[in-house]
Amino acid sequence: MLVVMSNTATKADIDRVCETIRTMGYTPVAMPGSSRTTVGLIGNDRRVDSSLVAELPGVAQVIHVSNLYKQVSREWKSDGTIVTIAPGVSFGGAAVPVIAGPCSVESEAQILEAARGVKAAGAVALRGGAFKPRSSPYSFQGMGKQGLELLALAKRETGLAIVTEAMDDEGAHLVAEVADLIQIGARNMQNYSLLKTVGRIGKPVLLKRGMAATIEDLLLSAEYILSEGNQQVILCERGLRSFDATARNLFDLTAIPVVHGLSHLPIVADPSHGTGRRDKVTPMARAAVAAGADGLIVEVHPHPERALSDGAQSLTLDQFTELMRQLRRVAEAVDRQVSGTPAGAA
Ligand code: PEP
Ligand code: MN
Repeated sequence: MLVVMSNTATKADIDRVCETIRTMGYTPVAMPGSSRTTVGLIGNDRRVDSSLVAELPGVAQVIHVSNLYKQVSREWKSDGTIVTIAPGVSFGGAAVPVIAGPCSVESEAQILEAARGVKAAGAVALRGGAFKPRSSPYSFQGMGKQGLELLALAKRETGLAIVTEAMDDEGAHLVAEVADLIQIGARNMQNYSLLKTVGRIGKPVLLKRGMAATIEDLLLSAEYILSEGNQQVILCERGLRSFDATARNLFDLTAIPVVHGLSHLPIVADPSHGTGRRDKVTPMARAAVAAGADGLIVEVHPHPERALSDGAQSLTLDQFTELMRQLRRVAEAVDRQVSGTPAGAA
């Protein structure tokens, strides 16, 4: 249930609504908006008697939120949420920040070359997995803690924000020490214990859509994080499993406007996992920005032919530089700007 206060409601009116909700045995959440405050009721077990609040002074309307997900819904919060992961790096506003870097951290030389290269091209955050969820137990599993230390080094050297994946509860605490944005991968989108853990840690979370997850599944997973008190969630479309082997995944561009309609959370696109092929990444990155994506996450490797994971979908640094040039023009056409200034630009 959502209690929409009138735009003339006083602080005392809002406090009274919150107190009444508490007396009913539920938790109120007051959300000041641009023109009026809304008070949400958490823990609704369908036995709430809305007439107890509907008649209170300052109450304009009581809305029954019908979705299973509540706090992530646009009904709950009509203004888009802006998630700031580092000074000047925000998702959900007019800017389109680009996160780039290798699939995995492989060595000091590799991650520093990647970090310097993507920064020069205009990326504002560095991605790189230290803990890797690989389909085969015999594939490279990531450098673990040592990988995190190398990411911290890359951050010190370049100032880039860090995005890296947490695979389990214990790893989430380690990752949180280094990451500005904790990635929850497609395979863990419905790992509810991990979602609760990152909800409690309270750092921004990048929640990737599971490879066979509906948009409702994705939003319900985000709800787990918000229900722990962490509103800083960025959703990510990364493609779905399909019957067609032409591309690694079926990149669901429609998810971007659909999520914008259903939720106030920002959504970024991952055209690398979305397509699985380097030559398809640039056109789908352009399309995602045109479709309204709130940012991109792109795999870039200084030497993709030597990559220990996802080399086939990794752009070279030159290809990424050209992609960024193109994205600036696409963003401008839809009244957005790619954030970050490339080296050498005015
Ligand atoms: C990744 O970002 O490298 C990754 C493993 O992505 P996903 O979880 O989308 O497969
Ligand atoms: Mn990858």
